[in-house]
This record gives sequence, C-alpha cells and structure tokens, in this order.
Amino acid sequence: MAPDILTLRRDFPTLAQIVNGHPLVYLDNAATTQKPQAVLDALNHYYRDTNANVHRASHALSGQATQAFEQARIKLQRFINAPAPEQVIWTRGTTEAINLVAFSFGMHNLKAGDEILLSTLEHHANIVPWQQVAAATGARIRVIPLMPTGDLDMKAAAQLINSRTRLLAIGQVSNALGVINPVKQLIAMAKSVGAVTLVDGAQAMGHLPVDVQELGCDFYAFSGHKMYGPTGIGGLYGKKELLEQMPPWQTGGEMVSHVSFEQTRFNRLPFKFEAGTPNIAGAIAFGAAVDYLSGLNRTLLAQHEDSLLDALVTGLEAIPGVRIIGRPGVRVGAVSFVMDEVHPQDLATLLDMQGIALRTGHHCAMPLMQALGLEQGTIRASVAFYNTHEEIAALLAGIHKAREFF
Ligand code: PMP
Repeated sequence: MAPDILTLRRDFPTLAQIVNGHPLVYLDNAATTQKPQAVLDALNHYYRDTNANVHRASHALSGQATQAFEQARIKLQRFINAPAPEQVIWTRGTTEAINLVAFSFGMHNLKAGDEILLSTLEHHANIVPWQQVAAATGARIRVIPLMPTGDLDMKAAAQLINSRTRLLAIGQVSNALGVINPVKQLIAMAKSVGAVTLVDGAQAMGHLPVDVQELGCDFYAFSGHKMYGPTGIGGLYGKKELLEQMPPWQTGGEMVSHVSFEQTRFNRLPFKFEAGTPNIAGAIAFGAAVDYLSGLNRTLLAQHEDSLLDALVTGLEAIPGVRIIGRPGVRVGAVSFVMDEVHPQDLATLLDMQGIALRTGHHCAMPLMQALGLEQGTIRASVAFYNTHEEIAALLAGIHKAREFF
C-alpha cells in the first residue's frame, strides 16, 4: 500500500508555506531535511522544562537532562545496531566525526609510506581532514576512480588496495550524484589488507537502513540534520578497541576523570571524546527524529522515494538539452543534471522564483566536478519521503518553462 504522504507532510510545518508566491517545493534535502513537529517539540521541551547541564550537578533538572541525553545515545546506538552506547560519540555532525578520526587516529597511527584510500565521489568533509593527516604524517592519498556511469571502478579499487593501504575512508552515498557505493564489499577488501575503515554516512542514514556490525566498518560518521533531526548534532560510531586506544582529540571539561597541574586522567568512553558542554537539546531532539523515523514504514517510504527519483529521471530525459550526470546501478536521494548553455545558478534562480528549492554548484565535491569536467557544477534535486509526485511534476514543468525563457 502506498504510504499516505499527504498526511505525513502535515508533521513538517516548514513544508506548508508559500515561497515567492508559490507553494514551496523543497527538493534540497541532501543539504538538510525539514524537521517534524516531534523534533521541534523535543527541542522546545528541553529548553522550556528541563534545561540544565548534563553529567554534572546533583539536582533534579540535571538528572532529567542527563537521562534524556543518554537515552538519545541509546536510540542512535539501536538505530545503527552498534554493540554498546559508549561506541556512539556525539559530534557536531559528520564533518566533526571525520575530523575526530583524522586527528586522533590518523595523526597518531599513520606514517610516511602509508596510503589513505578515498574515492572520486567524496565530499570535502571526507577529503580535507585526510589531506591534513597526509601533510603531517607523510602518508599518501590515493583515489578510487569512477566509471562513466558514476559508479566506483571496483577493478581499480581492487588494484589500489594493497599492503600499504592503512585507511579506507568512503562515502556510503554520494551527495552530488546519489550513487550508492558498495561499501560492504570495499570494507571487506580493505580489511583483507589490515586497513582501518571509515564510512561517511551523512547521505545514507536518512534513506537506507544502517547496520554498522553488518557493514563491518571501524568508524561510521553521521549528521542529525540530514535525517530530520537538528543541525549541529551528529555522531561517530567506532569499534571499541580502536576508540579505547585513540587519544582524545579535544580536551577540557567533561572528558576527564581527574586533573591536577601535573597530569590528567581521561574519562572513559564515550566522554573521553566529548570535551565541553555538548549540544544537549540537539542530541535529545536527534533521538526524537530517530523515534519518528522508526515509527514509520521505512521500506514503503524508500519505495516512494525510488518512484520519485524514477519519475524525475524519466522526466529530465525527455527535456531537450538536459543531461543527467551519472547513471549509477543503484542510487538514492539525489539526481544531478546540467542544461545546455544555461548556467546552473541561472536555472536555479528561475526555479526559485517558482518556489522550487534546489542546490547548484559543486556540492562540496570539487574534485568530483573536476573529474566530470563540470567546472560550473550541476543542478541537484534531492528528495525526502515527504516529497510528492506533484512536486516532481512542478520541477519538470518549471524546467520546461525555463528552457523557453533561455
Ligand atoms: N559527507 C557528505 C556525503 C555530505 O553530504 C555532507 C553534508 N553535505 C557531509 C559529509 C558533511 O556533513 P555536515 O555538514 O553535517 O558535517
């Protein structure tokens, strides 16, 4: 049975508005998703009713805040099937989670001659921290190339993975092209040479079921705001033996168990990696987003998202002068395209005047755009389960109209 999208949309107050004189058509979900009322309520409830710092004071409000904060960690742990809650470390998001691994694990374990394997599809968040590690340690970055479809070239990957490969850092889903990478296979290949593996799950967790134990990765990074939660909160899953062995990255209050001017003993996991007052409201509301998602039939919603993307691809193919970038075997979330002789930004501005929200440019994946020869970037439409076929039709009609204009 088709999910009742129109009813679900009512959970998202932002969607019901007029933008530039038209009903909002929000197709920039890969940048950030809208938030359901349950998430807004959780933020409000924390600040209105239980606002207090966590893990510190011996008073009632602090106890409530701490309990809700740690309960949210357990929700995330279950959502990704991590073995234990202390293996989920709160961060500001995927970027900070990857930086944590780069600066704690990477800086202390890599050396000259080691190789860090990335892919052409990576977001800057999964490139730049590794460049910092490479510059400081002498390790070398290697890159899995793409096939013309936009899929990773797995033959090349097999050749690139060798005894020098110390770390594989790979996105599960490309934010720019929507390609789903065969991460489980890549992780197994990397493990066979003893490499440590990190998955950038920013674009995956809102669309696909994620089981970190099934994937077999050492680290998994994610962001709340890409999956109906607030901005400024996300997390890092890590294997316990690695997290135990890694030094703290940021230091200060909360991450210590004893401090004197001579020396400091660090706190146990996960607190060792959570210096300072965390984003308490964000974590609790992220937990509310997970509850909200878990209460839906995600299989049906994924089918609905697939049907939206199918309709979008079919519709774009029928518009003369439009070229879809990448024909991956499996995709989720996003479709990127360009239009002959029209700058992506000009097209997006025209569509914005019709209330249609898209993203243009390099999508924080400049090396990918260079590899594709698309210096001006692309136009990207990215869906969430609350999008409708009417909205896809509005986008396609808008592009037809824009074509006449240009
Ligand atoms: N990786 C990918 C694939 C992304 O799409 C994003 C966000 N655009 C990030 C990393 C960074 O996430 P955040 O900005 O939430 O830290």
